[in-house]
Amino acid sequence: MARRGLLIILSSPSGAGKSTLAKRLMVWDETLRFSVSSTTRAPREGEVDGKDYFFVTVEDFQRQVADQGMLEHARVFENYYGSPIAPVQTAVEAGRDVLFDIDWQGAQQISNSVMRDNVLSIFILPPSIPELRRRLEGRGQDSAEVIEKRMQKSWDEISHWDGYDYVLVNDDLDATEEKLKTIISAERMRRAQQPDLLTTVRRLQDEFEDRA
Ligand code: ADP
Ligand code: 5GP
Repeated sequence: MARRGLLIILSSPSGAGKSTLAKRLMVWDETLRFSVSSTTRAPREGEVDGKDYFFVTVEDFQRQVADQGMLEHARVFENYYGSPIAPVQTAVEAGRDVLFDIDWQGAQQISNSVMRDNVLSIFILPPSIPELRRRLEGRGQDSAEVIEKRMQKSWDEISHWDGYDYVLVNDDLDATEEKLKTIISAERMRRAQQPDLLTTVRRLQDEFEDRA
């Protein structure tokens, strides 16, 4: 029996570093699948359609939701975001872990879905609010107005920190990356994640009973 993949959810207030960490995890383990979300927001400079997001119209987004094509979806910062379900199902059934960069609303929906037994949710906190602002400004991809909106919404996201399995403070980037790898490696070794264990234990039992 193949292991079912984990649904690894990363959430944080915008600017805390989850996309950067997600990219590092994808380099660390090329068997991980990134769940490319659909969004109605405009692409940022350098973002690639189909890789960072599927950039879609509001009509297309709503059609996908109506067709039951989303595992979860939410309105964030006046735009719609959602995780297409088909690639997630294919990956998980093939034993592949899927990485999500989504907000608390999406995390909550997936954690309450039929796939809840395979969820691993991790919340990333910034070390301080001034540092969060510095990171949003330093990213240099949003207007002053958009940055202000994201700062105003940051507490709304942070206030859901206690709904997650793990919470990390992303102070030093390398240290946070290492902690994430440790968490994922350990979660993969949970008994429920190792269906082949039963075969091993049965063999051990046979050997035990046959021993001279
Ligand atoms: P999010 O995906 O959570 O919105 P990003 O990954 O885009 O955040 O990170 C926002 C900015 O902060 C980026 O410029 C990124 O390089 C930087 N950053 C991320 N983590 C750290 C860290 N630990 N220390 C300093 N800068 C960081
Ligand atoms: P950004 O516009 O900065 O890429 O993302 C804004 C917020 O939307 C982030 O908190 C991000 O995690 C979240 N987000 C991205 N994709 C999805 C998604 O598919 N579903 C949900 N619920 N949130 C998402």
